[in-house]
Amino acid sequence: MEPREGAHPPNRGGAPFAGRDLSESPFLVTWELTRACALRCRHCRAAAIPDRNPGELSTAEAHRLLEQFADLGPSPPFIVLTGGDPTERPDLASIIERSVSLGLVTDVAPSVTPRLTDEVIAGWARAGVHTVSISLDGPTATVHDRFRGVPGTFAASLAAARAIVAHGLRLQINTSICRETVEGLAAMAALVAELGAQRWELFFVIGTGRARELAALSADETEAALLWLAHHASTAPYRMTTVAAPQYRRVREQIAPSPRRGGAPVIKEGRGFAFVDHVGNVAPNGYLPLAAGNIRTEPFSAIYRFSPLFRVLREPERLRGRCGRCPYREVCGGSRARAYAETGDVLAEDPACPFQPAMAES
Ligand code: SF4
Repeated sequence: MEPREGAHPPNRGGAPFAGRDLSESPFLVTWELTRACALRCRHCRAAAIPDRNPGELSTAEAHRLLEQFADLGPSPPFIVLTGGDPTERPDLASIIERSVSLGLVTDVAPSVTPRLTDEVIAGWARAGVHTVSISLDGPTATVHDRFRGVPGTFAASLAAARAIVAHGLRLQINTSICRETVEGLAAMAALVAELGAQRWELFFVIGTGRARELAALSADETEAALLWLAHHASTAPYRMTTVAAPQYRRVREQIAPSPRRGGAPVIKEGRGFAFVDHVGNVAPNGYLPLAAGNIRTEPFSAIYRFSPLFRVLREPERLRGRCGRCPYREVCGGSRARAYAETGDVLAEDPACPFQPAMAES
């Protein structure tokens, strides 16, 4: 899970959204506990590996990091424990228990492998996990299993999703959008509803990790998909957010301007969102391979608040090209991860957006 680019998230647990200073404390931290994973997903950000890296944060370091999150202020961030596959860590239950006991709203994003048993899911429910997310990249086994690299994953994912709901946990479905999957959007929308998910998060593939092999959508194809999603959102029985397509906010504003959306703070890479990798590097986004610091040598708060990378990403006036002169740059600003992946410039315009702002008058 990455910066969520849809409707503003609702208040959850003890972490109110309104009034937050997003330059002081993120709204959401995604923490890659490990890169180990039994799947071989073609879009994998982490380029996951079969075995755990001995340099992963230890259990004691993990607990200390959770304490740092809890100390970030009266509204600590929501925590998403991801990977790789977080169930590859034998201390996952201890990390969840510590996180929940510190009052952190804690989500888990496991891979669907034989480790994800009904018993494990029931344990997360008892431990106080808030949401569990499952990936479904297509409405059929043909599409999903090809994408995930392991036959049978589609059926197992459906079973896991149903178990999550049966144990009273909130369900999030994550879907990767690229040429291979975009045709299945309408059928996927119906499946997400049938499964009883509370949120559908759509990741617009960019060329990092194994995703370099996949055909990302063109700017016009991205726009068409976002328009479809924006119209679908008005009747969908779940919340919808995008990842790596912040122009979804611009599309929604163009369809139906919203005073609330226009006035509330917007979560973006580096402003409201941070990513911690398995060895403690802190980045504005898991798809942006630029470490702003490491929690083994600096407090998380110092990296988030003061590192040059995080600070520059909070200054939309520093953006270049169309994003720099765009009237929607405050609510959108383009995907910094895609800009960096495709141009090497973290402040460049987002190549996946066809919007043409007016040229500034000289
Ligand atoms: S030009 Fe940039 S800031 Fe404007 S809508 Fe497109 S991606 Fe967003």
